[in-house]
Amino acid sequence: MADNHKIKKSPHVLLIPYPSQGHINPIIQFGKRLISKGVKTTLITTIYTLNSTPSHNTTTTSIEIKAISDGFDKGGYTSADSAESYLKSFKETGSKSLGDLIKTLQSEGNIINAIVYDSLLIWALDVAKEFGIDCGSFFTQSCAVNTIYYHVHKGLISLPPGSTVSVPGLPQFECWETPSFLHNYEPNGAWSKTVFGQFENIDQARWVFTNSFYKLEEQVITWMRKMWNLKVIGPTLPSMHLDKRLKDDKYYGFNLFKANHNECMAWLSDKPKGSVVYVSFGSMIKLGPEQMEELAWGLSDCGVNFLWVVRGKEGKLAKDFLDMKRIPEKGLVVAWCRQLDVLAHESVGCFVTHCGFSSTLEAVSLGVPVVGMPRVSDQSTNAKYLDEIWGVGVRVKADENGIVRRETLTSCIKKIMEEERGVVARKNASQWKELAKLAVGEGGSSDRDIDEFVYELRHNC
Ligand code: UDP
Repeated sequence: MADNHKIKKSPHVLLIPYPSQGHINPIIQFGKRLISKGVKTTLITTIYTLNSTPSHNTTTTSIEIKAISDGFDKGGYTSADSAESYLKSFKETGSKSLGDLIKTLQSEGNIINAIVYDSLLIWALDVAKEFGIDCGSFFTQSCAVNTIYYHVHKGLISLPPGSTVSVPGLPQFECWETPSFLHNYEPNGAWSKTVFGQFENIDQARWVFTNSFYKLEEQVITWMRKMWNLKVIGPTLPSMHLDKRLKDDKYYGFNLFKANHNECMAWLSDKPKGSVVYVSFGSMIKLGPEQMEELAWGLSDCGVNFLWVVRGKEGKLAKDFLDMKRIPEKGLVVAWCRQLDVLAHESVGCFVTHCGFSSTLEAVSLGVPVVGMPRVSDQSTNAKYLDEIWGVGVRVKADENGIVRRETLTSCIKKIMEEERGVVARKNASQWKELAKLAVGEGGSSDRDIDEFVYELRHNC
């Protein structure tokens, strides 16, 4: 165990995110908060992620960055044959590489007081234990989703589930509202094993972190606190979007993709207040051609202005559609944007989102009403919360082939942009925005949990 005197001076924490945008952002922001409280932090990403991220996209200057190997240094996740082979390689190669890095850091005189790893990377705990270093598991999903996965892990929810699912501290779910790893259960799926397996060694973790905030998930957080030394530290948006205490913290600062920022801002600034529908499906989802077409028609049939993020070659399809419909001035299609700046822009009136948890929290924290269009993973559960529990939007329903039809989308967008439902959603969203600010502000629930973690680090208690 590390020397107490040194810990009191400036503890040092290693942060290890899973290398995707929705997982890197929350952990980096946690790191910035730790730095502001006198904790040294080092972010550990993969060699591929570091090498393939343009240096001008990494502006998190306050955090030192180091890299380990996931076994795919040249091509990352997409170059692996399957999710299974990637996750296996990350565990095997990553464990060795992390061990080597810790030895190097220690040989340079660093005392490492804690390792906080993404909850998907449970092997990091075993490495930390070999070195006698305390560790914390960092969950980037909602507490509701974590709790559902925990109940599956414990065998308390059968798979596939019945028509409804009940879990303490949570509302009742229709089967289709549970994460897709339950309702589309694949017994040998690499990702389902990984998400249910997040709890395998959790009782050895000294801390459990979640990117949520107390008021948002009060009941389930109370339940989780009975199980673990839980630190609820979100929402992890840059401080200048919330409490404004960290003046340099305006952006996430580690962007895997280059944003068309100036183009987006110039286009938005030209549009009336609340008139734009912002559409994004995050960093991983690819919609097939049929869904792309329905979405394009749905947006154009609404007659609204829209800013649409389309990654990869589908971007050309979307642009061609605007030309074909002769409505280029109504829509802007970009490959990537700075989502927070877009959501915070006064021209944006609605967010059509896949309901990834980072996007979900960003919408709630910036007071933007949503149309939830979940695809996979935890998104259907987040969409239920956005709609029924937090009251900040509506959900579209896909047809029996899993396609959201243009009429369904149009009617949901109109509900938010033109009808009473939208007025109520906007009012609720702005209330959540205030609660989010309070949570991360000085003395707020998340701020206190971070302080407690720092105290425990310094006093090694
Ligand atoms: N994001 C962004 N620009 C975009 C689209 C997404 O900066 O054009 C960010 C967004 O702010 C969020 C992350 O990428 O922090 C996506 O995470 P989320 O959990 O919503 O979805 P995932 O990509 O994991 O499916």
